[in-house]
Amino acid sequence: MPGRGGTGRPWAGALRGVLLASTTDPRAIQGGFALLVAVDVALRLVGGVRVGLSAPAVAVLAVLVLLAVTLVAHGRMSMRAVEALLVADIAVVGIARLSPEGGSGLLVVLPALWLGRLLGRRGAAVAGVATVALVTVPGLAYTGADGIFLSRSVIIPVVATIAALAIAGGMEQVGQAMETVEHQRRVSEATLDTVDVGLVLLDRDGKYVAINRRHEDFMALAYPGGHAGRAGQVGHVLDADRSTLLPRESMPTYRAAQGEEFDDCRIWAGDDPLTQRALSVSARSVRDEAGRFAGAALAYKDVTDFMRAMEVKDEFVASVSHELRTPLTSIVGYVQMLREDDGLGPRAARQLEVVDRNAQRLLRLITDLLDTAQIDAGPVGMARTPCDLAGLLRDCVDAARPAYRAAGIRLDLTAPPALPMLLDRQRIEQVVDNLLTNAMKYSTSGTEVCVSLAVEDGRAELTVADQGIGISAADRDRLFTRFFRSRDAEDRSIQGVGLGLSITRGIVEAHGGRIEVDSELGVGSTFRVRLPIEVAGAFAG
Ligand code: ADP
Repeated sequence: MPGRGGTGRPWAGALRGVLLASTTDPRAIQGGFALLVAVDVALRLVGGVRVGLSAPAVAVLAVLVLLAVTLVAHGRMSMRAVEALLVADIAVVGIARLSPEGGSGLLVVLPALWLGRLLGRRGAAVAGVATVALVTVPGLAYTGADGIFLSRSVIIPVVATIAALAIAGGMEQVGQAMETVEHQRRVSEATLDTVDVGLVLLDRDGKYVAINRRHEDFMALAYPGGHAGRAGQVGHVLDADRSTLLPRESMPTYRAAQGEEFDDCRIWAGDDPLTQRALSVSARSVRDEAGRFAGAALAYKDVTDFMRAMEVKDEFVASVSHELRTPLTSIVGYVQMLREDDGLGPRAARQLEVVDRNAQRLLRLITDLLDTAQIDAGPVGMARTPCDLAGLLRDCVDAARPAYRAAGIRLDLTAPPALPMLLDRQRIEQVVDNLLTNAMKYSTSGTEVCVSLAVEDGRAELTVADQGIGISAADRDRLFTRFFRSRDAEDRSIQGVGLGLSITRGIVEAHGGRIEVDSELGVGSTFRVRLPIEVAGAFAG
């Protein structure tokens, strides 16, 4: 069916009809033809031809009648009616040529092109037959077949048919291309709907271009009152802590629309704890050929079951560790009291020493597990007070000296006289102890461990450098992961469970700091902790 929309200003519509632009409104088609006929007659008048009441004038009249009919009936015109209208236009050209002032036969090309465009090859055939019947035959009957008249009359339908066929072919190709595009669109839509991940596509202005079915479920949870289709809309979307409502600038869609790329951004969608879903969001920018930001794609993975399992596991580990620590602390205490008893025989003393060592080991492991659970609970676990980091470091190094001496490893310390900061003293001692213990554990007798403290770029920089077994590049990436132990550490049967460094990193990050490691296998490792000193003023008051 031809399009039903208006064409705006009449001149613009007629021009679009002449140019075969993307309208199929009969008013534009007929307006375009009327315009051409009018221009043809006007140019004849300008050239001095006396049109008077001749055939071209009748043609102009006929065109105006056809235009009037079209303007009145355009809303009810079927494709057949438009076809009849175009054939009538061809007849008008035929009429215009039936006088000595003869209208231009070339005008037939416009209705022929429209017939080809709207009806394809059949339209081209109609154009050819109509031109022969309504232009060529009456023309030859009027002028005879002498002189130039024969060739003129034959060439006109040939040109009209070729033009109509050419445009019909072009339209066929466009149609096929459109079909392919539409098919691909349906395939991608079906594919996107089958994946179990919510998908969102944003344009460069942060407008939602597409979302898949899975994401509609998440949107219903987060925006029960509906969504405006723009990035950054605030709704029932919570932070990973499951209680803070995400502000606009923290919404994954908003960040993605700003060109940010990220992975595993954890959020909760929905306000009812029973139906809430935990989502892990990733975002990637889409760029145009010039590399400019052209939009973003976001993937929302439902990780609710995983998060719930983690919660249950953390609670289980925390409560079991807690239950184990109380009796174990008592065992350790009593064993130590027993060991101090002078009446013990050498055999019993040896056996008690083994019990003591293993009970201590068990207690350390349980304390580490409890620490891990506590650190997972977030930075709230840190109780910061004014504290001299240099003094703290000296105390830790002094406490470690006997063990270092026994292991035959030198321990060197360089630190300023004092470095006041705001720290959780016990936790930072734990960091230093962990690093000092590791440096000793993973070094051999005769080597040296250098500990230093300095202020770099407004940050306290604590370094522990050893000449021990070192860490391979591959292991370095996983060093701070819970329960990770390097192959070397396992092969050498060096005791440990792989929790110390993950706890250390947790404490450092809870203080707003960072921990890094440089290492070379067989040469040694340097652990570097950087902590912000923004709180030094706390001492002044
Ligand atoms: P643990 O020492 O109890 O195994 P950590 O979390 O402290 O646990 O350390 C994790 C792993 O990192 C260790 O098992 C070891 O492989 C490696 N590592 C830590 N510190 C050093 C070091 N100074 N030199 C070489 N390897 C180290």
